Amino acid sequence: MKCVRSRIRRPIIHLPAEEGGSDLDFCLVNSETRDREPWPSCPRHILRVALADLHRETGTRLVTACEHEFTYSHPDIAPASSFTLESIRRFGSFADALADASEAADLGFDTIEPEFGVGQIEVCTEPRIGLASVDNIVFAREVIREVARRQGGRASFLPKPHPDAVGNGAHLHFSFLDDDDKPAGFDPDAAHEMSELTRHFVAGVFQHLPALVGFCAPSPVSYLRLGPHHWSCGYAAFGVQNRECALRICPSPVLDKSKRGKAFNIEFRPMDGTCNPFIAVAAIVHAGLDGVRRKLDPPPLVDTDPADLTDDERTRLGVYPLPATLQEAIAAIEADTDLAANLPAEFLDVFLSLKRFEATLGDTLTPDDLCEKYAYAY
Ligand code: GLU
Ligand code: MG
Repeated sequence: MKCVRSRIRRPIIHLPAEEGGSDLDFCLVNSETRDREPWPSCPRHILRVALADLHRETGTRLVTACEHEFTYSHPDIAPASSFTLESIRRFGSFADALADASEAADLGFDTIEPEFGVGQIEVCTEPRIGLASVDNIVFAREVIREVARRQGGRASFLPKPHPDAVGNGAHLHFSFLDDDDKPAGFDPDAAHEMSELTRHFVAGVFQHLPALVGFCAPSPVSYLRLGPHHWSCGYAAFGVQNRECALRICPSPVLDKSKRGKAFNIEFRPMDGTCNPFIAVAAIVHAGLDGVRRKLDPPPLVDTDPADLTDDERTRLGVYPLPATLQEAIAAIEADTDLAANLPAEFLDVFLSLKRFEATLGDTLTPDDLCEKYAYAY
């Protein structure tokens, strides 16, 4: 399909056709009212508002990067054992095509590698600033799908390809830059190198985790993935490099103290590929800002699997279970009126009614049928 690119403002993706195929051209647009005002429920606008609040109140811009996990299936490629050279070689031409597409469409794929699950692949994107970084989540997903299609295969971002499979997450890494492009989330002399901004922001996100899970893991299939012992997280817990925590500090690998700020970031792990990333990140920003305004402090760090702690230990560390079903996540959003107040009432109303409908699917379908049904869309 041809489109007139000169008439379309960025952000736009152009991926030239391969022989016998068609170009992939698509762009993201803002929904506006008839008076050409931003439509309050436009997800990109909702994020724009959150990012503007962040900048006004903290003088910083949000930087994000995403780990896209997905399942690649191809009629001629049988998956090999995880983390082996064999598994890398079997999907070699797909990985090459992904790297070429990243360059052609400026997607900033940092790494492309086989993950733990059968046919599971992970693509990590480079950190980018503000709205553009979240646009890139959408672009990355669609281009990965396109490359898979061109190879005669399929990429699915479903949080669980089937109930017993390893889950696909979309972990979000975030940090902050001030207007001089200096890392504002990092303080080499502070505990765990978290600046005051990061500390309060993380505490706000932690405080609102149950409702955030509802925005970031918003399908019934999401709750087949989330849970203890899966590296996906089943508890609201905060740690350093701890894969079972919903939030974790990712320290910089660089030893030079003066250069450690650039790579230092916080990882939010519950997110998955069924979320609208504009809404997910907007909700995270509003939650973080709540922590900044109230000068909240994060809970103690957890250095073990929170599911292995006793109830007393969990209470002492401020650890509590995350919603385990979409119904519980919906209830958490309804209960978190402070967070919800940041989102347009009309948007929230429609979002929740849609989620209530999806929750009924989770009640009536078996996990297998649920995965099969959602695999059509994701
Ligand atoms: N696949 C895991 C998830 O569902 C994450 C594995 C990892 O830490 O990269 O979130
Ligand atoms: Mg991974």
